[in-house]
Amino acid sequence: MKLEVKNIYFDYNATCPMSSAVCNEILPLLSLPLNTSAVHEHGKVSKSIIENARTIIAKSLNASADYKIVFTSCATESNNLALKGLTLYKAFTTTIEHPSIFNILREGILPVDGNGLISLSSLEELCRELNGQKFLISIMAANNETGVIQPLKKASEIIHRYGGLIHSDAVQAFGKIHFDISDLNLDLVTISSHKIGGPFGASALIFKKNIELTTQLQGGGQEDRLRSGTVNTPAIAGFGKAAEIAVNNLDEYKYHTQKIRSYIENEIKSITAEAIIFSENVERLPNTISLTMPNVSNETQVIHFDLNGFSISAGSACSSNRLALPRVQMSMGFSEEISRTAIRISLGMNNTLEEAKKFVQAWKQLFDNTNKNIKAA
Ligand code: PLP
Repeated sequence: MKLEVKNIYFDYNATCPMSSAVCNEILPLLSLPLNTSAVHEHGKVSKSIIENARTIIAKSLNASADYKIVFTSCATESNNLALKGLTLYKAFTTTIEHPSIFNILREGILPVDGNGLISLSSLEELCRELNGQKFLISIMAANNETGVIQPLKKASEIIHRYGGLIHSDAVQAFGKIHFDISDLNLDLVTISSHKIGGPFGASALIFKKNIELTTQLQGGGQEDRLRSGTVNTPAIAGFGKAAEIAVNNLDEYKYHTQKIRSYIENEIKSITAEAIIFSENVERLPNTISLTMPNVSNETQVIHFDLNGFSISAGSACSSNRLALPRVQMSMGFSEEISRTAIRISLGMNNTLEEAKKFVQAWKQLFDNTNKNIKAA
């Protein structure tokens, strides 16, 4: 099969390319029958590869000896295990979570403000009501669309003060910003391999050892009976390598992606003052832009940019061939009409300023054409 992909890739929050270092790490493993459950030599080698990855991931999150790591196949599965596995807990979340959280916990939703930040006073009010009960609150570390970083340390202090547990979906934050599970004192955390330059098929749920989770899969009892199914040794080995590389290069990542992000944002602001850059003035991931183009739907923009050589995203996941409601921007108080003109640009280490310049030209072309036609009408 011929594989020819020419577009410039600006969709790193959806998934990332694997680096050559990660490919080299896993290539020799792909042709070996590495089943961790086996007692023979192949099984022992497989186990040592998995334990090595577990150690690297624990170190990259600064997980103390109080934490345990379970490998799963994707963050969606880790989130489901965290939320459904705590059977006796009342669970709550925020309006801006990924569907793998939001669609499970639709009751008791915490609002966000116009910048996409949770309200710590609403959180405290909720915790006060739940005081004395077994409860869990799931708050994402950084949003996949706007990149907004939540005040997790303060949230965890509040939740613990009232005896609750805190889970955080750190899929977008881990590997992009410094993330220390012990310092934040989080009870459960989800991370995903393919979001940080590792292979598909690996994710982790990291949680305090004293928490009892109920498995969601009956089977062979792998991963300490929490995640049955033959362990994906090559993917987990690549996940470990990708975590190590990402965490060792956070400063370079910030410098590189933020420089390109600022260029795009400043250029677009100079084209029109009407474009909204969501959460522009609060702490965000350095690689993420959520941006509107006045009077142009995000569907039209995605097609225009694709035809002009850019892979970008409309932000909201597609459902039944229709773009879902832009829940994140709407929960920040923006109208559906404005929110439906928002696209997401998410950058990575392979992007360049040259690419950003071409993108701004393509942006200006669509903006000028549409708005000229509107004025003429
Ligand atoms: N959580 C967040 C914040 C995400 O952005 C995503 C993917 O877009 C997921 C969870 C799901 O990740 P996975 O593809 O590993 O299931």
